[in-house]
Amino acid sequence: MRALTVIPKKPGTAEVREVPDPVPADDEVAIDVIRVGLCGTDAEIDHGEYGVAPPGSDFLILGHESFGRVTRRARTAGKGMELVESTLVVASVRRPDGCPNCSRGEADMCLWGDYTERGIRGIHGFCAERYAERPEYLFPVPDEIADVAVLLEPLTISEKGWRHLTAAQRRMTVWEPKRAIVTGAGPVGILAAVLLRLRGLEVTVVDRSERPGRRALLAKIGASYAATSVTPLQEVAGRSGHTDVILDATGSSQVPFAAMDLIGPNGAVILTSVTGGTRSLEVPADDINKRLVLSNALVLGTVNANAVDFRQGLVDLAAAERRWPGFLLSLITRRVPLERAAEALRHDPAQIKQVVEIRP
Ligand SMILES: [Zn+2]
Repeated sequence: MRALTVIPKKPGTAEVREVPDPVPADDEVAIDVIRVGLCGTDAEIDHGEYGVAPPGSDFLILGHESFGRVTRRARTAGKGMELVESTLVVASVRRPDGCPNCSRGEADMCLWGDYTERGIRGIHGFCAERYAERPEYLFPVPDEIADVAVLLEPLTISEKGWRHLTAAQRRMTVWEPKRAIVTGAGPVGILAAVLLRLRGLEVTVVDRSERPGRRALLAKIGASYAATSVTPLQEVAGRSGHTDVILDATGSSQVPFAAMDLIGPNGAVILTSVTGGTRSLEVPADDINKRLVLSNALVLGTVNANAVDFRQGLVDLAAAERRWPGFLLSLITRRVPLERAAEALRHDPAQIKQVVEIRP
C-alpha cells in the first residue's frame, strides 16, 4: 500500500512510498483510511525535531488525526465487537506502557513515559491506505458527523483540558465560569472556542495579527476575535469583568506567562502548546506569582487525551454541527490526494486544517 513516511530525526524526508500492508492480529480490526488531518506535530517530525520509527523499521508512517472504515472485524471475541464491517471510526493516538496509570486505561496520564504514539513515537500512523488496530482504541462515528470526524483528535486536546479543569474546580462548592480567552487561532484554538461556546461561555479568540477571515469565521459561533498587534492581551482581558479560563494554543511559551498575569479570581490557565525550542524569557515574576496566589489560580498543562475525551468529543462535534451547520466543515480548508500528502505538511497561515484524502 502507499503511505506518507519520514525517516525520523532526518529533516525533510517526508515522501509517499510503497510499504508493506499491515497484517491484522486476531484481536485487531482492519481499517481502510478515508482521510487524515495533518498538523504542526507532523511538520515538526518532518523537520527532524522528534519522531521514532517502530522497532525494526527505518521509517515512520505519519498521521495521527484519522478517519476510516472497518473492513474486517476482529477474529477473537472481546471488547469492541460492535465494530463490524463498514463502521466508521476514529482511532486514538497513545498506546500504554505498563505503568499504574496506563494499566488503568489512562495512558494520557502515563507515569513512566515509555508509551508509544501512532504516527509519532514507535508505531506507524494512519496516513496510509490501511491500518490495523485493537477495537478498544477505535471510536465509532455516527454518519451525521462523518464529514467532520477527522477533527475529533485535535478537539480531544481541549476536551481533556476542560474535563480536568471541571474536576479541579470541584474545589469550590459552585463554579460558574462566564468568560474565556483562547490564545491562538489555529485548529486547536478554534476547536477549543467551539467547546467553550457549547458550554455557554463568552469566548474571545486572540490572534497575533488581524486575519479578517478568522474574525468572520469565529463570529459564526458567537465568539469574539482580537489581534494582539492591535489590542494587547491585557486590554482584551480587561475589557469586561474577569476571565475565568485562558486556554493557550499559540505554540509560544511567552503567551502563557502573560496569561498567568491576567487570570481572574479562582480561574485557570490551560496550557496545550508543546514548545520545541530552548527559549529563555524575562517575566514579571513577582506580579505573576502574586496574581496566581491572590486569585487561587490554577495553571494546568494537558497532553494527549483519554477514551472518555474521544467519546465526549463525538458528542460535541454532533452538537456543534446541529447548532452551527457547516461551521466544522469550513475548518477543513485544503484537501490533497495521498500522492501529494507531503505538500500538506508545509505551514500555510491561510489554511486552518489541511487533510489528506485517501479515499475521497
Ligand atoms: Zn504509562
